[in-house]
Amino acid sequence: MLNSLFQKKNICFICKLHTNSYICSNCKRELDFYQKLRGKFSYKNFDLHFTTPYYQNYKNILWNLKFGKDTGLAKSMAYLMIEAFFKKNSKLPELLSYVPMGILREKQRGFNQSKILADEIGKLLNKETSDLLKRKDNIKLYQSKIIDRNKLVNNSMYINNPGEKKSVLIVDDVMTTGATVRETIRVLTANGYDELTFLIFGRQEKKENLEIWFS
Ligand SMILES: [Zn+2]
Repeated sequence: MLNSLFQKKNICFICKLHTNSYICSNCKRELDFYQKLRGKFSYKNFDLHFTTPYYQNYKNILWNLKFGKDTGLAKSMAYLMIEAFFKKNSKLPELLSYVPMGILREKQRGFNQSKILADEIGKLLNKETSDLLKRKDNIKLYQSKIIDRNKLVNNSMYINNPGEKKSVLIVDDVMTTGATVRETIRVLTANGYDELTFLIFGRQEKKENLEIWFS
């Protein structure tokens, strides 16, 4: 049943080597290790869950989804994300949402990879995705260096569709500086949503840590 979620049978989804499952034993071990070490992080009162380090094969998967437009990957990524989430959690928040992209930006790319991930997670959990947030386009943001990003992300989001204040699971593709997570928290808590959990595929890690963990 699991293998049917993945695009190619007998090929590891992560490293592309031959295996008799959707993920080879090396990648499985690496992910288990990473998720134990870095899979859950608390920021203020909120839990952030990470599935993979933003690194090597995991970075390629995200790149292929985002720029290679290989949206078929999202299904397998969603599965790994849920699996990681339930290792640390037994309860699922009531609403399922995602980090939005500016409308122009999304039009340019043709899709928002975080929404696609949320939709696939929704399919697996039998839950609708809620378009809770919107984002203003800020062309500068996409060309900026990390130092400027924090400033530009501030005030870029707003509530699209306020409703009953439920707990929310927010899906995102990758966390680099954390500016987007902070802005998402700011907007949602300002609008009365104070039970937030993040589920993020990739987490940017320091190079020296990666060398210690994965050498
Ligand atoms: Zn593998």
